[in-house]
Amino acid sequence: MARYRIGVLEGDGIGPEVVGAALQVVEAVTHSIPGLTLDLIPLPVGLAAIHTHGVALPPSTVAALEECHGWIMGPHDSESYPPAERAKRNPSGELRRRFDLYANIRPARTFSGVPSLAPAADLVVVRENTEGFYADRNMAQGAGEFMPTPDVALAVGVFTRRGAERIARTAFRLAQGRRRSVTIVHKYNVLRLTYGLFLETCRAVAREFPDVAVEDYHIDAMAAHLVRRPGDFDVIVTTNMFGDILSDLAGELVGSLGMAGALNAGDERAMAQATHGSAPDIAGRGIANPVGGLLSTALLLHWLGDRHGDPGAHAAGERIEAAVAATLTAGVRTPDLGGSARTLEFAEAVQERIAAE
Ligand code: ATP
Repeated sequence: MARYRIGVLEGDGIGPEVVGAALQVVEAVTHSIPGLTLDLIPLPVGLAAIHTHGVALPPSTVAALEECHGWIMGPHDSESYPPAERAKRNPSGELRRRFDLYANIRPARTFSGVPSLAPAADLVVVRENTEGFYADRNMAQGAGEFMPTPDVALAVGVFTRRGAERIARTAFRLAQGRRRSVTIVHKYNVLRLTYGLFLETCRAVAREFPDVAVEDYHIDAMAAHLVRRPGDFDVIVTTNMFGDILSDLAGELVGSLGMAGALNAGDERAMAQATHGSAPDIAGRGIANPVGGLLSTALLLHWLGDRHGDPGAHAAGERIEAAVAATLTAGVRTPDLGGSARTLEFAEAVQERIAAE
């Protein structure tokens, strides 16, 4: 019997719609797996929290997350927050830092029934999430960007052996459960010390995993390879900024932004959050594609399965993935994919498939 406390943070824009769809599907999947219980705990965040608590990320929400195994988070529309809130790190960034969610796992795969530039891709970008050139997250205090004069801007990139080691281990472990291949992406020919440390550390970790094939590419070459032969890659491990760019490229190759699921994972906790933003242009109309949120939720269930040695949680993740794939194959599609299904219709179709198994 496994029981998990899962926070539910709807967020802004289409957040309540796509998170609502994820909850419907979670309910179906927990019914279908005996012994798996998810206690879903709604917690305020974003604009709703600003209205009720005065801040986008109330301390009570953070305290409640301390008691959770993981959480499902919608997107936030930080641009629409009042100036005092906009000046702060955004809620997801704050949670990433607070809970040391160092691995950003971003799968990209083609689904039959979804038009795609890459006919047969199934890969995962494993992106380091806490250092590199991200000025808002690579410093203990202050930001890693500064201007000594109005005409000179400097940025600090942070690359540590510990950061490289833990992201490389995440990638190699993931590859062991997939096609056993890891591609390290770097820019060692130009950034000799920083990318030298990253590459050397990833290669050292690779030696702990002799059953996994390893190769490496410079980022520029990798962008070309990814476009030319996306089906050849399994797990791609890289630094923060390269991972951000490559995962968007991979996502675009396999379909719509609304399809991309993602997980922010640490050793103790994980946050499921789709790659897409709050999409204010379609918010409230009930037409958002819920697939990114559903696949993110499946990733969280797999993470729980690994972290707690629980085959039931893995099975729940697999059932969601299989039901989403079957629903798309059956031609149920939201308007961003050229279909006419509404968000909740898609979720209901997934729910029915899970219940029918
Ligand atoms: P942010 O800065 O929050 O990432 P953004 O405007 O850069 O916001 P999105 O909010 O993701 O990015 O929206 C980009 C475009 O993709 C918009 O036209 C939006 O409607 C569309 N889009 C994003 N997510 C979805 C989704 N789940 N379903 C359908 N369309 C989506």
